[in-house]
Amino acid sequence: MKYADEFRDKAIALGLARAIRSEADPQRSYRFMEFCGGHTHAISRYGLEDILPKNVRMIHGPGCPVCVLPAGRIDMAIRLADRPEVILCVYGDLMRVRGSQGASLLKAKARGADVRMVYSTVDAIRIAEENPEREVVFFAIGFETSTPPTAIMIRRAEKRQLENFSVFCNHVRTPPAMQNILESPDIRRVEIDGFVGPAHVSIIIGTETYEVFAEEFGKPVVISGFEPLDMMQAILMLVRQVNEHRNEVENQYSRAVTRDGNPRAKEEVSNIFELRDQFEWRGLGLVPYSGLKLKQTYARFDAEIRFAMNELRVPDNPACECGAILRGVKKPVDCRLFGTVCTPETPVGSCMVSSEGACAAHWTYGRFR
Ligand code: SF4
Repeated sequence: MKYADEFRDKAIALGLARAIRSEADPQRSYRFMEFCGGHTHAISRYGLEDILPKNVRMIHGPGCPVCVLPAGRIDMAIRLADRPEVILCVYGDLMRVRGSQGASLLKAKARGADVRMVYSTVDAIRIAEENPEREVVFFAIGFETSTPPTAIMIRRAEKRQLENFSVFCNHVRTPPAMQNILESPDIRRVEIDGFVGPAHVSIIIGTETYEVFAEEFGKPVVISGFEPLDMMQAILMLVRQVNEHRNEVENQYSRAVTRDGNPRAKEEVSNIFELRDQFEWRGLGLVPYSGLKLKQTYARFDAEIRFAMNELRVPDNPACECGAILRGVKKPVDCRLFGTVCTPETPVGSCMVSSEGACAAHWTYGRFR
């Protein structure tokens, strides 16, 4: 596959592994967090940890939007879907994420709620146009990569004067979560030496956003693509920064990411959305300024206002270790349900539902240590 195969060359990957092994100081360990679920998936899929030296370890981060959505927001969506006038449009992964007491949108659909799986925001607009007598709500979720399409969808709904359309907004931001991780007492014990920065998110927000982590937190950040050679090169760049006592933002994924990001996409988002004071993340708790909501001008498209929804906070299943895994302090194999009660066919927690979740990645690619 052109533009992918050249970044999956085994000989070059092993060469990069040799370079990491020869440059990594055997007297110390290196712990790098890959923030993004796509990177977690790539590490498991290509067995990258198997070719890294033992003193270079990867810590999985919270960069999977389905995984970090707390159970309370799923409960809110189920209440919305249970309203007889509502058609709730959701992406497939969300159907199986559990709210409190094992509830899910899939179960709500099975008992008669009108929950429809969509592939894009365009589908949701079409469903609203086809059902003028119903209230169509789009369950918006994702990091900075998926926020611009939601912004464009809202502008489109406004242009088409859609009166029966709204958005249940769960868009979240990467930098506040990275800051939360660095300030968490748990993770300070783990001592992260640097971050492999997200690929797609950085196409939108640019590398400049991460400079605070290098300058104020003293942590190197290397933005990396998703292919195995991208990741191996990014890890080598991080090892070199640590060895040279440098804390910089470097861009391995220069074929797609710039310092400024995508100004057009950023403008679309800032026209429609504003910061929430705080937003709950599974595993991280309430994170200041980490979530987005619709601006007052677009309040009529905000499902939380339109349906007077109350924020729900419910505890996680105590047997599920997703919270600790998303904070980077545990691995999937540390959960006693991993691979026994909890598998991709019978997921207990969100990290097993989403293909970008650490538990699903470890299970799918046989990473049992
Ligand atoms: Fe939660 Fe299942 Fe992962 Fe355990 S294996 S942490 S129950 S998702």
